[in-house]
Amino acid sequence: MRKMEVRKNKKIIERVSEIYNWIDQQLANKDIAGSCEVCGKCCDFESYDHRLYVTTPEIIYFVEKLGSANIKQMTDGRCCYQVDGKCSVHAYRFSGCRIFCCKGKATFQSELTEAAIKKFKGLCAELQIPYCYIELPAAFKNFLTTREYP
Ligand code: SF4
Ligand code: SF4
Repeated sequence: MRKMEVRKNKKIIERVSEIYNWIDQQLANKDIAGSCEVCGKCCDFESYDHRLYVTTPEIIYFVEKLGSANIKQMTDGRCCYQVDGKCSVHAYRFSGCRIFCCKGKATFQSELTEAAIKKFKGLCAELQIPYCYIELPAAFKNFLTTREYP
């Protein structure tokens, strides 16, 4: 990887980390954000009828944190990072994983999602990287096939 790319990815990681911290702060009020009981059901997208969309900077962050060799293809409709019913990548989970709670208020979640997307879009514009909002299994498939970010 070229030096310029390394520098840029480092900046992206810093900024995504800031956005994730900001999101986590918005979720402090459990009356509206909901309290997750960590049952793991919503990480089984197919059986829960749930869709998880991610943005380009989040994929870059995830791949950089986990290492490209640890990116897996989803095979059965369940997030491949759920291990024994728990998230094995909790620290690096996506904004959608942070914001969604089956016990939270849908309007609050939708507004927070919009606000987070705005921040990710702004980050893409500022650092001149393409912006994409893509379903998680497709994002992994794209990365594994092309070794490029969506
Ligand atoms: S958000 Fe709800 S469904 Fe998802 S893990 Fe938490 S309690 Fe289970
Ligand atoms: S990254 Fe973690 S929280 Fe998000 S869907 Fe996968 S297992 Fe669930």
